[in-house]
Amino acid sequence: MMIVMTPHALPEHVEAVRQRLATTGVHVVVMPGELTTAIGAIGDPEGVAELGLEGLPGVDRVVPISRPYKLASLELASERPSTVEVLGRKVGGGTTFALIAGPCTVESREQTLGVAHAVKAAGASMLRGGAFKPRTSPFAFSGLGREGLEILAEARAETGLPVVTELLDVAHAELVSEHADVLQIGARNMQNYALLDVAGHLGRPVLLKRGLSSSLDELLQAADYVLKGGAEVILCERGIRTFETATRFTLDLGAIPWLKLHTHLPVIVDPSHAAGDRRLVEPLSRAAAAVGADGLIVEVHEDPSVALCDGPQALYASDFAAFAERVAAHAALEGRTLA
Ligand code: PEP
Ligand code: MN
Repeated sequence: MMIVMTPHALPEHVEAVRQRLATTGVHVVVMPGELTTAIGAIGDPEGVAELGLEGLPGVDRVVPISRPYKLASLELASERPSTVEVLGRKVGGGTTFALIAGPCTVESREQTLGVAHAVKAAGASMLRGGAFKPRTSPFAFSGLGREGLEILAEARAETGLPVVTELLDVAHAELVSEHADVLQIGARNMQNYALLDVAGHLGRPVLLKRGLSSSLDELLQAADYVLKGGAEVILCERGIRTFETATRFTLDLGAIPWLKLHTHLPVIVDPSHAAGDRRLVEPLSRAAAAVGADGLIVEVHEDPSVALCDGPQALYASDFAAFAERVAAHAALEGRTLA
């Protein structure tokens, strides 16, 4: 339910409503607006209706929140669109375009530092790289674990780039959040609700990837799990399963403008995993900029032919600066500058 206050409601009126709601155990979000304050009450709608809040001073009306997702919805935003800021680098807000780039997987110190310096020089705003990797086969390289996280922390110290890395399992929660600036929840874990709940409480923003076969309603409800714990969320469209097998996944470009209509959260695009082929990464990146994405997360390697994971979709580090410049030109057409 949403409690809309009158334009003349006083702070103590808002506080009285908040306290009354708190007695029912619902999750309360106070959203001061330009004219009026709205108070979101998420939980048992009948319990809230029974409180008779319409009779309290300063209350204008009590209306149901119609969407299955709540905290992620545009209706419940205190800031539209919202911005996630990490070490001074912004994602979201409508005027910037974030380039998050780096290797699929941390393979060695040299490989990671080399790519980190290359993407930094080309204007990337954050470094990506997996230390714990979800692999389809249990026989594939699954990352360096703790050592990989330490290499990422060293890359941050050298370049100043915030680190985005995957939180694969609740068992790694403390270790990963000690080393990372942004916690990535991978596509395969989008509906791992226990992990989402833990990730929401680690005090780090979460980059939430859309599940391979998840609807946008499900994505936003997954975001609600993280937001409920207090963490900020960046959404990522990374391609979904369709009947088409020519590309690794089907990049759902329509998802971006749809999400912009329904959520205040920043939305970025991963063209690398969607395409599975580096030749498609730039056209999809330009398209992402054109449909209003807040940025990209892209895989880059100095020598993709020897990459231990996802080599065919990795951009060459030596090509990244020119790529970034062309994508930035497309983002500029949408009124955005590189973050
Ligand atoms: C990744 O970003 O390295 C990754 C595994 O992505 P996804 O979860 O989208 O497959
Ligand atoms: Mn990858």
